[in-house]
Amino acid sequence: MSKHVTHWIGGKPWDGAAERVGDIYNPATGQVTGTVDFASAAVVGDAVAAAGKAFPGWRSFSLAKRSSVLFAFRELLIAHRAELAKLISSEHGKVTSDADGEVARGLDVVEFACGIPHLLKGGYSENVSTGVDAYSIRQPLGVVAGITPFNFPAMVPMWMFPLAVACGNTFVLKPSEKDPSASLLLARLLMEAGAPEGVLNVVQGDKEAVDAILAHPDVRAVSFVGSTPIARYVYENGTAAGKRVQALGGAKNHMVVLPDADMDLAADAAVSAGFGSAGERCMAVSVLVAVGSAGDELVAKIADRVGGLRVGPGSDERSEMGPLVTRAHRDRVASYLDSGVREGATLAVDGRMHPVIGGDADGFWLGPSVLDHVTPGMSAYTDEIFGPVLSVVRVPSYDDALRLVSENPYGNGTAIFTNDGGAARRFVAEAEVGMIGVNVPIPVPVAYYSFGGWKASLFGDTHIYGTEGIHFYTRGKAVTSRWLDPSHGGVSLGFPVNR
Ligand code: NAD
Repeated sequence: MSKHVTHWIGGKPWDGAAERVGDIYNPATGQVTGTVDFASAAVVGDAVAAAGKAFPGWRSFSLAKRSSVLFAFRELLIAHRAELAKLISSEHGKVTSDADGEVARGLDVVEFACGIPHLLKGGYSENVSTGVDAYSIRQPLGVVAGITPFNFPAMVPMWMFPLAVACGNTFVLKPSEKDPSASLLLARLLMEAGAPEGVLNVVQGDKEAVDAILAHPDVRAVSFVGSTPIARYVYENGTAAGKRVQALGGAKNHMVVLPDADMDLAADAAVSAGFGSAGERCMAVSVLVAVGSAGDELVAKIADRVGGLRVGPGSDERSEMGPLVTRAHRDRVASYLDSGVREGATLAVDGRMHPVIGGDADGFWLGPSVLDHVTPGMSAYTDEIFGPVLSVVRVPSYDDALRLVSENPYGNGTAIFTNDGGAARRFVAEAEVGMIGVNVPIPVPVAYYSFGGWKASLFGDTHIYGTEGIHFYTRGKAVTSRWLDPSHGGVSLGFPVNR
């Protein structure tokens, strides 16, 4: 039975007839399982209008009431966790346990947002001038929007809307058209938790919907997560239209292994971080930088572990790694195995040969692959592959490794594996990257720190979620107040100075 996914506007599913639709696939079978409506500019306009209508009422909800809605949302998310994970897996392809992990990391942000009364506390100074007090408050922006990628259809939206609405804004979400269903379940649950209609709206679609969001005068801020070219486009066009924009882009994350590291720990970490979610994570390790003598032992240990990975449908409990999201993406990722070899790399593990357990021949399969002896000029090194291909670059020294990491145009995440505290400390201080792991391969910050890369991995000034997220979704107001007492001094045309 084919499903039909549409928009969620003003607290209910949209009931219009879409001018354009897209197909939804099950990546494990390669079959079309349904269609998704694509929003026109008029539909986006309706969603923004619904959010605009909801804004005055929602912002006047007390902090206590807003946080109780978030607490209720948390309970509903927990109750629907398995359903959400299954939904994600069926459209994205990732294994259900991994999809459950993404829901858990989204929940972390919801729990952080439950503390909104504390997070919105301002400052107060008594008697800044004689008889004058000063204080600061942070207020919501109005209607804000989020545009999200395919690889985390629940977590990345939850990096955005729970904090945005906790701050008193109303929200328009444009999820990826590749796996659109999770967004609708989230919108329904937030409403069941007590958010009035119009607080969270969802418009499905592609570039047309994105452009309509960027052009709409009533959208005050845009959070974007996706690839670097689109992040740059959204940042440039959104800011040109006068909006506040945070646009998180792609990545090329390096894991540096020094010769003194625990090689088993490093090999386990490289395999987990390189091939989890089939490498379709913005914090996946895609380049392994083996320093000095580390290379041969490390590649042998990785090849050994990779051989035993169980690749299969996300819904099959035996599977550790699922298919890629689309056929075109699978073919593009696989093309780097040929181009890598053509450009001089060695194919240490060829994922095209990897067995698939219980899989349909038409699924978008590609097993884990390792390209060894990759050098910085090769396309496998310069491009974000975003799939299960680990490139190994061998360098003679620590300084070469650090230079490689820092000179890469992306700066999302990086990790160092070593038992040398001094080397690790220097790496933390000097690497030109936004998120760093020390013996931790995927250093995604917990919800009360903020997430964000440097350089081509983020356009804008604020990282996402955490206290920077609160800052992004609010604007500050400073108030200077005097309640007259009999000693007030009459007219003064001089500039106010503090006495
Ligand atoms: P994408 O850039 O293709 O799409 C992201 C969003 O932009 C989607 O909602 C999509 O519909 C929309 N979009 C696509 N093309 C557009 C266009 N021409 N104009 C306007 N909007 C457009 O990214 P994706 O393939 O869905 O996701 C994978 C990418 O996201 C990878 O590059 C990955 O590194 C990145 N990512 C980054 C982070 C991060 O935190 N930095 C997190 C997750 C994913």
